[in-house]
Amino acid sequence: MSSAIFNFNASYQSLGNSFFEWVKPTPVQAPHLLLFNNSLSKELGLTLNIANDKDGSVEQILSGNKLAEGSQPMAQAYAGHQFGYFTMLGDGRAILLGEHISPGQQRFDIQLKGSGPTPYSRRGDGRATLKAMLREYLISEAMHGLGIPTSRSLAIVTTGEKVYREEIQDGAVLTRVMQSHIRVGSFEYVNHYLTKEDLNTYTKYTLARHYPSAAVENPALSLLKEVLIQQVHLIVNWMRVGFIHGVMNTDNMSIAGETFDYGPCAFMNRYDPSKVFSSIDTNGRYAFANQPGIAHWNLSCLANALLPIIHDNQEQAVELAKEILNLFPDLYTQSYTAMMAAKIGFPKNQLSDEVVELIKELLNWMKENQADYTNTFLQIQSVLFPEGIYAGSFFTDWLKKREALLNKQGSSVAQAKELMQSQNPLVIPRNHWVEKVLDSVALTGDLTSFNAFLKVLQTPYQPITGIEIYQAPPENGDGFYATYCGT
Ligand code: AMP
Ligand code: MG
Repeated sequence: MSSAIFNFNASYQSLGNSFFEWVKPTPVQAPHLLLFNNSLSKELGLTLNIANDKDGSVEQILSGNKLAEGSQPMAQAYAGHQFGYFTMLGDGRAILLGEHISPGQQRFDIQLKGSGPTPYSRRGDGRATLKAMLREYLISEAMHGLGIPTSRSLAIVTTGEKVYREEIQDGAVLTRVMQSHIRVGSFEYVNHYLTKEDLNTYTKYTLARHYPSAAVENPALSLLKEVLIQQVHLIVNWMRVGFIHGVMNTDNMSIAGETFDYGPCAFMNRYDPSKVFSSIDTNGRYAFANQPGIAHWNLSCLANALLPIIHDNQEQAVELAKEILNLFPDLYTQSYTAMMAAKIGFPKNQLSDEVVELIKELLNWMKENQADYTNTFLQIQSVLFPEGIYAGSFFTDWLKKREALLNKQGSSVAQAKELMQSQNPLVIPRNHWVEKVLDSVALTGDLTSFNAFLKVLQTPYQPITGIEIYQAPPENGDGFYATYCGT
């Protein structure tokens, strides 16, 4: 008998079985461990030994064919607003193996995604395609490298089974690691389908799990405020790197403030506030510049779900919730402005009206000239050779104006550069590269190009050798590049 791989310690099940369904992963035909995240495994303190996995027990466990010691698998219930409309959802193709306690005493959900049907699958098959799981693995690890809160990817196991989508594809199971999978939509589920007492219990549970130092006099208001602060932090970070989530439904907004659900997301090349990649987002609801507004809207859904326990008098409850929700615009604007200022080299204590004006001028010019979002800041940082629009008069004049302002405010180009290096990634997962490396794995099974790209993305602020090839934007912009949900 081997020692346990995960240090499981269940807490979610104490909520009672109206919050989830017990369900085991459905075994797959021929599991094969394709990718394994050694550094994450180490961080989690796992004793998964893939180098010496003679009996294949790692792939057996991470495919769902065998249960890890201590695992009590379940599918969680949740609801959500999808593109503005409320609906019942739940883990339809994901199964929570358990909650792992790391050596640092942090609690992490260990979840298999693509592990077979559950009572929440509706008409879905509970499975995932290899390509979609590779995409999630690559981009979530890139987000982590960028310093942005995110779900992590521990492993991908191919199943040896086909998955039927528009075309027949190879199937795979991803092991997803998150602080928890509690979503805004989880609270909407509890409020809509369970009792007020359940809502109270769930709120206290979530507050203790994610915000243990928050005030507890009014747990619902405390939770709303903490989630709001984390969302501001998260969205500002997305805006910093040009990330478009693509499907910010309330079921895809984590209470702990982590990015997750990597279905239709993509990074913007040319700066365009109205940019949308998702093929189903025809009205641009989740366009780049709409993300803060949508986060605010989603938070109002959370507030709405919490109303019954904010105050017995519902009018007063609404007033109290509004007080918190109304913090969002100013908090976001402050945080966004500080972030953009840092991207052009001005620290927090130098946020003058002139800096704000300088940012506006730059963004307007970028939009008019379809400037590459990532590379424009690298131009300001003098990392890339100035050619094309960057050798033109607007940009050179703007740089001079910026330098004068830096000097006037007691800073310098050199100091600015240091600050900018921590804000402006040298590389992002550009769509044409993402597609190229995914195709290469999907078509030939060869991981060389995938791993090379992954390695660069894991340290996106480091000028490592060979990075240049990933820095060039696609020649014709993003053209008709589109992404898809739930593949
Ligand atoms: P998503 O668009 O990924 O946020 O998923 C929305 C809902 O659809 C969730 O309840 C998912 O669990 C469910 N779902 C997505 N894909 C599948 C699938 N292949 N089989 C079963 N349920 C799915
Ligand atoms: Mg989802």
